[in-house]
Amino acid sequence: MPAIRARRLFDGRELLGERVVHVTDGKITAVTVDGPADLDLGDVTLLPGLIDCHVHLVFDASADPVGHLTESSDEEVLDRMREEAARTVAAGVTTVRDLGDRGYLALRLAEKLGVTEGPEILASGPPITTTGGHCWFLGGQADGVEGVRAAVRERAERGVHVVKMMVTGGEMTPGTFSHLRQYGLAELCAAVEEAHAHGLPIAAHAHAGQGIADALAAGFDTIEHCSFMTEHAAEHDETIIARLAASDVIVSLTAGIVPTGEPPPPGIAKRMPGIMAALRALHAAGAAFVIGSDAGIGPGKPHGVLPYGARMLVDLGYAPLDVLRSVTSRAAGACRVADRKGRIMQGYDADLVAVSGDPLADISVLQRPSAVFRMGRRLR
Ligand SMILES: [Zn+2]
Repeated sequence: MPAIRARRLFDGRELLGERVVHVTDGKITAVTVDGPADLDLGDVTLLPGLIDCHVHLVFDASADPVGHLTESSDEEVLDRMREEAARTVAAGVTTVRDLGDRGYLALRLAEKLGVTEGPEILASGPPITTTGGHCWFLGGQADGVEGVRAAVRERAERGVHVVKMMVTGGEMTPGTFSHLRQYGLAELCAAVEEAHAHGLPIAAHAHAGQGIADALAAGFDTIEHCSFMTEHAAEHDETIIARLAASDVIVSLTAGIVPTGEPPPPGIAKRMPGIMAALRALHAAGAAFVIGSDAGIGPGKPHGVLPYGARMLVDLGYAPLDVLRSVTSRAAGACRVADRKGRIMQGYDADLVAVSGDPLADISVLQRPSAVFRMGRRLR
């Protein structure tokens, strides 16, 4: 299998000059400065395949993803998920962390999917939530310390790659509220302890400031959203942000919207200025971040939207190099696949994406990949 030449190479950490990447049996066997190549990609930057730390393959990015899911059989949903997976990888996103499905369908898809059909899927199964809580319809309801412990054990037995827990309410679920907590600290600590005892990372869905603080105190590995939503706005708390930045936790920023011409849902629109201010404050404090696009939850978030999230953070003032690391090597660390994903180095999976030009000069080139390789096979 080929040796691939590119004018520039971002290895997951730094932007380098011309390199030849040698691939055998889906793995990178060497990276050399020169030498013959079977495939010359020309004036492109070759990067590790991008990693989206938060997607929902069961949601179809329509105006009513929950309705469509509810009225569809598992087999129908799986057929759609296969298409969403293909769309994802065509966008250069070669690994996704699926943080909430129904009936472990993302795990089933991961088993069925050939490497040429989609990204590597790291799945949580149904998110753990309170009875009637955020995304209860996905089937992950669990209450009380013993209830959440049992829920984590069930997921470990099913072979999930990560556990997801709804610490606060959310926008998609009537009757739940983003600015309110769903669980007490005892249940959060129990879930974290049980997940870690099984060697699994655990991700917290948290919008409210107090929910973010609780998730940090309980020892969650990633905190999703971190939007600091209040009832009618979003107001970040500098003390909590300083604690996040001083901790080992990775903040998973919900960035990335394709322009649809449609306004965001009213609950988000009225809070958007505050959420943007929180994103800037997290950056100013130096919090470690990855991007979780939440692909699938609405028309502005089709599967494969991640490159738009990178663009959004750069537009907010984040350094392009830091953003590139956040969608490659840092994301691989957050997803616990840093030994084989997120770098272009000997021994790593040959998941690669090529973009024309220099993404450090113009991050939007990530939105238009000219070539995508998954385990060494060219898909685009
Ligand atoms: Zn989500």
